[in-house]
Amino acid sequence: MSELPIKAVLLDIDGVLVASWEPLDGASDAVAELRSSGYGVRFLTNTTSRTRSSIADALRDAGIEVDDDEISTATSATAAHLAREHPGCRVLLLDDGPIDDLGDVDLVDVDDDPEVVVLGGAGPRFGWEQLSRLAALVAEGAPFVAMHGSAVWQTSDGLRLDTGAFATAIEAATGIAPTVVGKPAPVMFTDALAELGCDPGAAVMVGDDVRSDVLAAQDAGLTGVLVRTGKFRPELLEAAEGEPDHVVDSIVDVPALLAGLR
Ligand SMILES: [Mg+2]
Repeated sequence: MSELPIKAVLLDIDGVLVASWEPLDGASDAVAELRSSGYGVRFLTNTTSRTRSSIADALRDAGIEVDDDEISTATSATAAHLAREHPGCRVLLLDDGPIDDLGDVDLVDVDDDPEVVVLGGAGPRFGWEQLSRLAALVAEGAPFVAMHGSAVWQTSDGLRLDTGAFATAIEAATGIAPTVVGKPAPVMFTDALAELGCDPGAAVMVGDDVRSDVLAAQDAGLTGVLVRTGKFRPELLEAAEGEPDHVVDSIVDVPALLAGLR
């Protein structure tokens, strides 16, 4: 837990501020209070199925004040990662989501000599042929990036296979693990804090996923706050391989918690 005064608050979106894009009680007032208290605020989500601007629109519709560029998605974080680690490289992307937030990444076909392979958000367009050819490039030494590590996502019809499940398959086939960009990897946290000019020890991450949001942020040097909304379940907290710095009922409790840490 940090000894520094808190200057920045990173917020997970789904399960913290909204559920199915409907606002959770008090979320809009709590975000407004954090802003008026002077904290730098950023919004971090592993979402690959929506663009930053569409997420910002949905949050504004839910009454939450946000600028598009305050939002980091697994897709936008991957663009930043590629620009930093593989600038100008030809990238083979397998992604079922919108790619607007990849910016000027040079996307090429599998036959155009890709230098880096990226596994994006999984979906119906993921096919055996593409996955096999992507795996072959990884086996031949192409850097392997996964937008996030979640193996499944839940729908009203049950679970669906997500990026992490396919990344695991490619790792099993090649012996090569991907560089994961989204949570629980530290990249999204550290990039957001770099933008805010804030040390991890002066930042808080608020999320409903004890591992991907809270313990991952704590591993990166931030203070972690778990909310008992969204996907929170007492048994998941019990089974977690660590303990959140703080557990509160909802985002509504966060401004007072932070005031107490000052
Ligand atoms: Mg969440």
